[in-house]
Amino acid sequence: MRQTSGDDGDDGPVAPLLAPVGRGSLMHVLVVEDDDTIAGPLLKGLAREGYTADRVASGSAALAAPVPDVVLLDLGLPDLDGYEVCRRLREASEVPIIVITARGEEADRVAGLELGADDYLVKPFGFRELVARIRAVTRRTDGRAAAPDITINGTLEIDRRSRRACIDGTELPLTRKEFDLLALLASDPGALRTREEILEQVWDPNWYGPTKTLDVHVASLRRKLGDPSLIETVRGVGFRVRDDR
Ligand code: CA
Repeated sequence: MRQTSGDDGDDGPVAPLLAPVGRGSLMHVLVVEDDDTIAGPLLKGLAREGYTADRVASGSAALAAPVPDVVLLDLGLPDLDGYEVCRRLREASEVPIIVITARGEEADRVAGLELGADDYLVKPFGFRELVARIRAVTRRTDGRAAAPDITINGTLEIDRRSRRACIDGTELPLTRKEFDLLALLASDPGALRTREEILEQVWDPNWYGPTKTLDVHVASLRRKLGDPSLIETVRGVGFRVRDDR
């Protein structure tokens, strides 16, 4: 069983009351809850706050789901022990997990056991409190979640997921095309990318416009990088990113 809310595009998103602690895109919450009367309002509330949320109703479905930005995990699940689900989620990734538990005695166990959960809430809980906890755990873990996936020369860091590029920790104000161009070139340092290949991948599979567009973007990217030698021109053929370290 799987329900989706927040990205069905019917009426467009409602303006969030609290902006999610995001990395440029919507934060994705996985709700693991077998009780429809709890899951339903939860999904609606999360969508209202600007999150996208998927819901699964069993532990096995939670373990099979793509890794989200944060997990809300009900411990009382029909198939697997909630503690076991929490442990296995933690083994598989560092996704922030907020455990939701029904009884005080469970809360004691959650608090006392090293489950790998980042926080817990006892039912019944207020939605505001939940949102505050989500913001807290995602802020705490944002550093590790947003670790850049490409580093060039030890100074240029590119994170394709959040679409951010930094030099010495300072974010570069890149346009969409400039970022795509940089990410393509930097994805395989030293590799020559032909002009045709770049135009196809960054612009359009059927780009017939002036290829001068590419040179204009490379020039502006070099200016923003502050080091013109980082992107090397192979005259008449294409470009490559140098990684000298
Ligand atoms: Ca339950």
